Amino acid sequence: MFDLLVRNTTLPDGRTGIDIAASGGKIVAVAPSIAGEAAREIDAGGLLVTPPFVDAHFHLDGTLTLGLAGKPNKSGTLAEGIRLWGETQPFLTAEGLRKRALAYCDLAVSQGLLAIRSHVDITDDSLLGVEVLAEVKAAVAPYLDVQLVAFPQMGYFSKPSMPGNFIRALDMGVDVVGGIPHLEPTDALGHLATTALCTLAAERGLMVDMHCDENDDPLSRQIETLTYETRRLGMGGRVAGSHLCSMHSMDNFFAARLIERMASAGVAAIANPIANMTLQGRIDTYPKRRGMLRAPELMAAGAAVAFGQDSVLDPWYPMGRADMLDVAHMGAHVAHMTGDDGLRACFAAVTENAARIIGLDGYGLAPGCNADFVLLQAADPADAIRLRPVRLAVVRRGKVIAETPMQTTRLALPGRPDVIDPVRSVRAAS
Ligand SMILES: [Zn+2]
Repeated sequence: MFDLLVRNTTLPDGRTGIDIAASGGKIVAVAPSIAGEAAREIDAGGLLVTPPFVDAHFHLDGTLTLGLAGKPNKSGTLAEGIRLWGETQPFLTAEGLRKRALAYCDLAVSQGLLAIRSHVDITDDSLLGVEVLAEVKAAVAPYLDVQLVAFPQMGYFSKPSMPGNFIRALDMGVDVVGGIPHLEPTDALGHLATTALCTLAAERGLMVDMHCDENDDPLSRQIETLTYETRRLGMGGRVAGSHLCSMHSMDNFFAARLIERMASAGVAAIANPIANMTLQGRIDTYPKRRGMLRAPELMAAGAAVAFGQDSVLDPWYPMGRADMLDVAHMGAHVAHMTGDDGLRACFAAVTENAARIIGLDGYGLAPGCNADFVLLQAADPADAIRLRPVRLAVVRRGKVIAETPMQTTRLALPGRPDVIDPVRSVRAAS
């Protein structure tokens, strides 16, 4: 007797007619026509089941604060977003931070997003954000994995107390060392900050994830130092560069050499396609640059690449709905990854690649993995990115924790079907 049996699924790797059985919180079988019964059985009807979506880059302390300071981001720039975030600080309370972070986690679960790496600003010496998000992390742990990154929004050298804030935040249980070297007072100080923070992470055996080169300056090359330190400190596989927007504008020869070095050092790259398209290129007239890292080239070189959401309803981005398929959809367009292989790679960038980069245990659709998965109203990964469909069932440790009804539309047209749905109606006609 299984706890849960999902019949007749399609898997992201293309296998069809596959049943998935779960017991004791784990997947115990993945095969056609599994014999046996379950406390709950779901007929997937041939639709796609995927491991949960994973957001490798988010800000849970900033989310849903749009308008808290009473002003929108008029210029749409990163700089105005950071300024507005500063003006938002006096309005931040523990209760408000907790309420918004928990509400976002609810939304995430409804979208099958069950793991989030969230940066948390440690600029304010109170470390209020760390305190609240550590509580939220514990509260949501039964249904959603939150990983916290200590993030110096204004820079490591922005204030004398910052090195101490890092130590305190890590002692409070923050998991990952962050940074923002391109925002330090000088380029040279950016490199020094990177070295100091990588050294701190190596001493504590922690991962590193830095906001890095989030600008359109072709000569912003902090990622070069992050890559060097990764190799020097033997931290391959535990370091990520987030954004890396300048890579879009770099000289092609330099970029090619950099990509090769990143791949061989084991530095992962986390693009944030929606944020990058919103915030970058703002100083350009025409043509306007895209400001997103070179995802297909990094992937081809063997580097791990994920796409993150970064912002939802905050001073940097006034939209968003915790849907990682929105992120994959934007990434596919921005990076010209619209071929079949490209769409599959974009799907991987918000699922398995992101899980690998943040070091998520027990992830996948194989016996022995955690029984965490999502049934989508889509035929395959490309269809999922096309439709960004409802999540029919979201499963955590073998239990259904969110359900959304199948989307159908009733038509009143002469000689046409009474009811259509976005998957089967299109399939039947093509
Ligand atoms: Zn960010």
